This record gives sequence, structure tokens and C-alpha cells, in this order.
Amino acid sequence: MAGGIFVFFYRARLKFLSVLQGENERIEVEINLLEKGLKEKKETLALLPERRKRLSLLFSISQNLIELIDTSEIYDYIINTLGDLFPDSDSILFFVFEKDKDSLSLSCSLKRKEMVIKEKEGDILDKWVLRHNCSLLIDDLTRDFRFDYTHSHSYTQRKSRSFVASPISVGDKVLGVMRAESQNVSNFSLEDSRILRNICDLAAVVIERGNLLHYAKDLAIKDSLTSLFLRDYFFERLDEELKRCSERNSNLGLLMLDIDDFKMVNDQYGHVVGDSVLKKLAKILNGKAGEPGNLIARYGGEEFIIYVVECDKDKILKIGEDIRLATEEAELTFRRKKIKFTVSLGAVVSQPDERDVNKLTEKVDKALYKAKREGKNRICFAG
Ligand code: GH3
Ligand code: MG
Ligand code: MG
Repeated sequence: MAGGIFVFFYRARLKFLSVLQGENERIEVEINLLEKGLKEKKETLALLPERRKRLSLLFSISQNLIELIDTSEIYDYIINTLGDLFPDSDSILFFVFEKDKDSLSLSCSLKRKEMVIKEKEGDILDKWVLRHNCSLLIDDLTRDFRFDYTHSHSYTQRKSRSFVASPISVGDKVLGVMRAESQNVSNFSLEDSRILRNICDLAAVVIERGNLLHYAKDLAIKDSLTSLFLRDYFFERLDEELKRCSERNSNLGLLMLDIDDFKMVNDQYGHVVGDSVLKKLAKILNGKAGEPGNLIARYGGEEFIIYVVECDKDKILKIGEDIRLATEEAELTFRRKKIKFTVSLGAVVSQPDERDVNKLTEKVDKALYKAKREGKNRICFAG
């Protein structure tokens, strides 16, 4: 009987001890978890001031960016801001994506040291960012399996080892690539990569807004077929230019031209071909008279008008004759047929005291009419 009681108590004690041990282990696990949580919270707490600083910086960047419209001002602002944000970077490069060329082009850069940047169309890293439309963070390029560092200009020419890069994109549309680099390894953190991406996202929206405004402005003053200016804009500018000429005591040359027998081109080949002829001529005009300061406009249907600054009779006649010859030599192919066309031109040069746009236009119009009357494909000067 006494033995039975002893065994009973012995077993009960063992069970009690094992429950106690289990409870002990559970409490230890809980303590470990709590300690781990506490450590993480402490780390997060330590990062908070830095995060708060960056957040308020992002806020002020967005406030400043919103006020900018001009693209070059936006680019300058972003690159300088990133310069402040990544003081340990050796250089920051900004590439714009040129859609017509399907390539990147170095738009601006910030360099801390004397260094040469030869990758004007972007490095393998920038092309990667452009292709994938996502950010890139590299601790050490020589150890990154994604890239062959011997093909990177940043490494071969400047010995850059670590990088952070981000696309500047709106949805699928990439507008450019921003990259910071350093000769030190692990110079950029994941947090740097995130902040760069945030700034680039902000920049993308502002740049796109600037592009749209520019486009809307263009629509109001440019002809959609030839991309040349419209006549109203031309005459406003001509009026200003004439005033400037009389102040500077200089002369301005005016050309008016009209495609010869254009109705026949339309009748024979159709309006689509006629439109191609107009576009071809616009290209010739840009090539021969598109110097800075000059202005080319579509005056009406198949008539064009150009003013040339700092001009005299010889110069305006030379430009006019160059246009006439280039047009005569140009050709378009339609259904294996070669389409040729010519232009007639009127030319005039303003007097230093000439202020009346209408009178000057009348003179050049008469000269053009004379060129038509005398047999077309020629230039006449209003003397
Ligand atoms: P001329 O040598 O005397 O200048 O003869 P022309 O046939 O060029 O002159 P006309 O004024 O009789 O014809 C001009 C033609 O230009 C008529 C019009 O249909 C055409 N035209 C005007 N604007 C456009 C355009 O945007 N596209 C096309 N395809 N044709 C146009
Ligand atoms: Mg005409
Ligand atoms: Mg004509």
C-alpha cells in the first residue's frame, strides 16, 4: 500500500517536472521572440529620424519640382538635388531617351572629380535600366554576375565599382535614366535606391507634364503636316524681327515660294502623294534656311514663307537658289514612278527703317508672281 502511494507520488512529480520544463521552454521562446521584436523596433526607431528627414526632403523636392516647366531647369534641379542627397557619389549622370533614335543620350552630369564621361549614349548599366524599366543597385560591379564589368565604361575609364540607377518613367514609357556611381564598393544602400526611385517618379510626372505643355503649344503655332510654323505666328515674329532690325540698323531677307503645278501632282497621284511632296519640301527648307534666328512657315496650301536675319540681296538670292536647285534635284517614288517637282520663289530684303509687315509681304508676293509669269522654277527679286 505504502509502496503504491510512493509510486503514485513519484510519477506525479515526474509529470509535474516535465510540465514545468515545457512551460519553461515556452517562456524562453517567448522571451527570445520579444527580444528579437524589441531589437527590430529599436533599429526601426534609430532609422526614424533619417526616414523623417528624407520624407520631408521628398516633400520639399516635390513642391519645388511642381513649379518647374522648362525641361532643362527640371534636369538641373534633379541632378543638383541628387548631388546633395548622395554626397559620397563620384558622379551623377542623367540620360534622356530619344525615341526617334531609340537610344539614350547624356543630357547633364555632375562630377566631383576631374573625370571624362565617354558613354554619351549610356553604359551597359543604363541600357539595362532602360530595357527592364526598373531600378538597379550594385554593390560591386566586378562581382555582379549580371554584367561583364570589362564592357562597362564607368569601370574601365573611371574605376567606378558601386552604382544606383533608376528609370524615369511614366508607366511603360521610359523618358530617361538617372545614375549615381562611386569608386568605393557598397557606397549605396537599398534606402538610397528607394529614394532615387521616388525622386525619378516625381521627375517623370513633371517632365511629362512639360512635354505635354510643349506639345500643346506646338499644336497652336505649328502645322501638323509639315511641322513648320503657321502663318499667324510667323507674322507676329516677323513684326518683332523688323522692329529689332530697325533698332540694330540691320536688314532682313524674305522669301516666298510656291510649288509649281502642284494641282497636277494631286490629280495624277492623289492627295497622299501631294502631302509627301509638301513634307519633302519642308525638309529641304529646314536644311537650306533653318539657321538659328530664321523662321520658316507654311503660308497656305502649297506656299511657304521664310525670313532670314542679318541678310542682304546676295545672301537671300543664294539661299533661294539653293532651295530651288535642291527641290529640282529631289524626287519621290510612288508605285515605281519617280515624282519630280519644282518651286518658284520671290525674294526681298527689308530696308533698315522698314516697319510695315504687309508692305514687305506684298513686295515679295509680287516677286513670286513675276517668277510664275516668267516661266516658273525660278527666283525673282523685288527690286
Ligand atoms: P501654280 O504653278 O500656278 O502654282 O499651279 P498650282 O497647280 O500649284 O496652283 P493651284 O493654286 O491651282 O493649286 C494648288 C493646289 O494645292 C490645290 C490644292 O488642292 C493643293 N493643296 C493645298 N493644300 C494641300 C495639302 O495640304 N495637301 C495636298 N495634297 N494638296 C494641297
Ligand atoms: Mg499657290
Ligand atoms: Mg502652286
